[in-house]
Amino acid sequence: MNASAFLFAVVFAVALAATVAIRLWLARRQIRYVLAHRNAVPTEFAERVDLASHQKAADYTIARTRLGMLETLVDTAVLIALTFGGGLAWLVHATGAIDAGVLWQDLALIVAIALVTGIIGLPFAYYHTFVLEARFGFNRTTLKLWLTDLVKGIVIGAVLGLPLAAVALTLMRIAGPYWWLWVWAVWVGFQFLILALYPTVIAPLFNKFSPLPEGPARERVEALLARCGFKSRGLFVMDGSKRSSHGNAFFTGFGRAKRIVFFDTLLQRLAPEEVEAVLAHELGHFRLKHVIKRMLWMAALSLALLALLAWLMRSPWFYQGLSVPASLDRPGVALVLFFMVLPVFTFLLAPLSALYSRKHEFEADAFAAQQASASSLVHALVKLYQDNASTLTPDPVHSTFYDSHPPAAIRIARLQSLAAEHS
Ligand SMILES: [Zn+2]
Repeated sequence: MNASAFLFAVVFAVALAATVAIRLWLARRQIRYVLAHRNAVPTEFAERVDLASHQKAADYTIARTRLGMLETLVDTAVLIALTFGGGLAWLVHATGAIDAGVLWQDLALIVAIALVTGIIGLPFAYYHTFVLEARFGFNRTTLKLWLTDLVKGIVIGAVLGLPLAAVALTLMRIAGPYWWLWVWAVWVGFQFLILALYPTVIAPLFNKFSPLPEGPARERVEALLARCGFKSRGLFVMDGSKRSSHGNAFFTGFGRAKRIVFFDTLLQRLAPEEVEAVLAHELGHFRLKHVIKRMLWMAALSLALLALLAWLMRSPWFYQGLSVPASLDRPGVALVLFFMVLPVFTFLLAPLSALYSRKHEFEADAFAAQQASASSLVHALVKLYQDNASTLTPDPVHSTFYDSHPPAAIRIARLQSLAAEHS
């Protein structure tokens, strides 16, 4: 191993150790904080949340955090086994023996890595649904449905992912030094394809969508849409209850093909004016261009990452530092290695992304307070916190680091002051 390869190996090892240490430290903080606040409902929620549901939320949060800690440890062991342990070197060698050209060798390598990580993740996914979610009364899926979903997911991943990988790998080999611009264009186009296919082709493979029935909820929602000048291709109810009792509302599609989808679980639990307030919040994300801004950020980030990959791919130390033979003629090796080690280096960006997202949540709440009723949104959120057993008392540091939504107490307090302003 030469000096630059050795240096990169050390940098990677240090970054990996730091990432794991920070993850475990944050998880332990979260568990301790939630435990310390388990026996009393925060005063601002005392009227609407009873002690039993508060304690259930605490236990649920702790159980999920513990599972996350175990997953961090297993994922780290797998990453070490694949890199320093020689696992990836072995797979590169084995797929290199396939007598069918570089493209097929690289595709075989990608499939092999997907299989290895998929199989290791499977027990966690099973445990999450059938033990953890079931213990807290959230799971409604059957083993048969779970397995069907799994197979469908694999088929869709293969049908969409393999052609994309084949195009990218070919461009990496033949499109010259600026291949990354071409791959980026293909990637952005692919994202639009998925956005277009998702509501009409992909989502219906997993769920039934029926028109939102006539009634007070629909009337309020239509009045809100007219008030905001928002056009969509229909309001739908999704049978989310067939898998889980967690509720949600969301948009799919883009441009004029946008659809608004409510989980049936959400409609069952919320009063019409609360449904209206939740939708007003979601509309806020659209009107304030949060969705587009996030997509532009993602596009810019992927361009930068592809340029970085183009440089690393030509650097033998990148492979050797991670214990893989330098395979400059097989772009698939660099691609797999890159996506395997990238999260170790981008982990420390998580708080920035979470901060950006929380800023958007506050803005969407303010929009909802203008277009609908802030106090109805408060009522809806409290019900959702309870139904989803979300903790009302997250550790502040853990929350700052990871949470895409503001902590319950802060979010509700802001909404209540907006409600007071508007009344
Ligand atoms: Zn939101």
